[in-house]
Amino acid sequence: MTRTLTQLAQILRVALDTPLRRLFDYLPPTVVTDTPRAVLGSRVRVPFGRQRLIGLVVEVADSSEIPAARLKPALEVLDAAPVLDAVALKLIRWTAEYYHHALGEVIAAALPRALRLGASPYEREERWLVTAAGASAAAAGELRRAPRQRALLEFLLAHGDVGAPELAAHSDTWREAARALIARGYLVTSEIERAAEPVPVGVRSAGPELLPEQRSAVDSVSDALGAYGTFVLHGITGSGKTEVYLRLVERAIESGRRALVLVPEIGLTPQLVGRFRERFDAPMAVMHSALTDHERLSAWREAFTGHTRIVLGTRSAVFAPVPDLGLIVVDEEHDASFKQQEGGLRYSARDLAVVRARHAGVPVLLGSATPALETLQNVVTGRYARLRLQRRAAQAEPPHLKLIDLRASAVRAGLSTPALLAIDQHLGAGGQALVFINRRGYAPTLLCTACGWIAPCRDCDARLTVHLAAGRLRCHHCGADAPLPARCPQCGFTVKPVGQGTERVAEALLEQFPGVALARLDRDVVRRRGDLEEVMRRMSTGEARILVGTQMVTKGHDFPNVTLVVVLNADQGLFSTDFRAPERLAQTIVQVAGRAGRGARAGEVLIQTEFPDHPLLRSLLADGYDGFASASLAERSQAAWPPFSRLAALRDSARTAAAALAFLEDARRLAGRPPSGLRLLGPVPAAMAKRAGRYHAQLLVESRERARLHGFLDEWLPAVEQLRSARAVRWSLDVDPLELF
Ligand code: ADP
Ligand code: ZN
Ligand code: ZN
Repeated sequence: MTRTLTQLAQILRVALDTPLRRLFDYLPPTVVTDTPRAVLGSRVRVPFGRQRLIGLVVEVADSSEIPAARLKPALEVLDAAPVLDAVALKLIRWTAEYYHHALGEVIAAALPRALRLGASPYEREERWLVTAAGASAAAAGELRRAPRQRALLEFLLAHGDVGAPELAAHSDTWREAARALIARGYLVTSEIERAAEPVPVGVRSAGPELLPEQRSAVDSVSDALGAYGTFVLHGITGSGKTEVYLRLVERAIESGRRALVLVPEIGLTPQLVGRFRERFDAPMAVMHSALTDHERLSAWREAFTGHTRIVLGTRSAVFAPVPDLGLIVVDEEHDASFKQQEGGLRYSARDLAVVRARHAGVPVLLGSATPALETLQNVVTGRYARLRLQRRAAQAEPPHLKLIDLRASAVRAGLSTPALLAIDQHLGAGGQALVFINRRGYAPTLLCTACGWIAPCRDCDARLTVHLAAGRLRCHHCGADAPLPARCPQCGFTVKPVGQGTERVAEALLEQFPGVALARLDRDVVRRRGDLEEVMRRMSTGEARILVGTQMVTKGHDFPNVTLVVVLNADQGLFSTDFRAPERLAQTIVQVAGRAGRGARAGEVLIQTEFPDHPLLRSLLADGYDGFASASLAERSQAAWPPFSRLAALRDSARTAAAALAFLEDARRLAGRPPSGLRLLGPVPAAMAKRAGRYHAQLLVESRERARLHGFLDEWLPAVEQLRSARAVRWSLDVDPLELF
């Protein structure tokens, strides 16, 4: 009797993958045989309206606000042990609160899809067992005319409980033989959950002797293992940051712990993954967005069971299970890809890595040659400790930067005469050249020379880009794709491409340097696995002498023989309305410049600009990234932009511009007179208001104090959610937005 009562009194509070910011109460399943008891972090299958959903038990309570008669029992408990332990749940709760997002959706972002659909958190393995009938058949010498079956039966009798890999090693045709034996009743197969086997971990190669700066960085973090601390590894490109990560991961593993390493995009940094694999003789899980659901589940399981010692992954790997976590590394911490900028939950994996490290009581290392200004400000205030690497590791000199005044020199297809001369000279000296232009395709505009018609995207406030080789016009914002017209659709006169992208620059360089092999690197070239590696191979073997590419070329590749870098259009970032544009431009220039002179010869970097006196370019040239950063921080402080204030953007899109603005205006009205110390800016249409047929707008909320901002959002959002005009739009809240429009 008492037993039934306590059971009835137990309420499972379940997070479901819905945008509703609340938990759902259920009773434990009524049929208790065979189903495990729900614990915090177990998945449960529950009735939800007419559906059945899988949710996660995040609280167990002894009472509910729902009347007992209306409480329904859960249908099934899927896990006897939590799939998200207390530490993981703490990070998820923190994320839901800070980004003002429904807990169920945060959990959905943190777990692989297969787990949300009910897959087991453990790898399952088939085993084969000989039955009693099989054993006596073997003893009686049966199966004389089926030698393969007999061999398999004897192998199984000799080796006992055996799995597929051992059987495959024994015979190629074992599956056929096994099927026949099962049909005879001599063999049974079953699935078991494979337990993680402890694997010895080792270091394959010791790595080079550390330079003094590297050693002191490694020592500082090593000394802090076992306690929370955020370290910024601020090291110029080529200064050996990766070597520092490797040593620290080694220390963490040696002490029996595990490491989590976050990287911007794995597809773009195969070298980093390769260096970890080369260094460690230890299981490693690699997680990134190009995995299939099945691969993602496997990687998650390997991490969850503790089989792997290193988890290396992109943004969402910040939520990966890592038992006995000892260290977190975030490589290229300034990279925008760490911020989820689409969909509902817009989190920063870098910031969450710091929170996770604090919860877990471990150090986190944020590495970059160009740390984000937010990160540097945290160094200034003493919240983060900076470790510097100011010398290049492999005896290479940092490159020399120089501006080319575009107004004073002849330009062909975007290439100035001094740039062409420099390329010629470096090629002549046996070097390679890298030409950076932040635009793919042939030309950004197709223009009619008679009537002035410009090929527009029908669904965006944007022009279509000419892709000449493919004979297409494409929109880089919505993916629209049309044939390249031979004549103006308006007046019938000839049309011509205006401006340049990688394709056109490559064409012009081939004309200038006939017979010199050239490689291109952009998203049009890299479409399949292996394409990037092929470009890298051609560059590192010296088969290609010139590389033309977009942003992709800035990501950590090591081309030792590149002695010249040319930046074609530095000017885009100079006059943007987005206060972060200069920071992005400076980071790009410094990162791309870092590709020059990684080998024995010093590098040269030429930056083409029409504004050689612009203060940003001046400070970057005179004082490097440090000088630029302190000047920019001073400006941000004056203007009260982040990190000197906190921002949240309420964004929406709708079928009409009016509807997009109406919702945000209603939201603003709801706020009434905002509390002191808090400002509402907008609503305003986005700079590119129309994208993919929808109109975008935003309303900014700003405060000097984080607590004030979040206090306001806590009260305001539930009301915003209830607005009638909300139904006509798609909206989301972006806390600490990276890109403002
Ligand atoms: P970063 O990540 O800072 O750009 P890397 O770790 O890739 O720099 O190092 C740049 C180059 O210097 C690599 O070729 C690396 O193998 C080499 N290197 C790093 N540390 C050392 C060292 N202590 N001694 C010799 N070479 C080193
Ligand atoms: Zn025309
Ligand atoms: Zn478009």
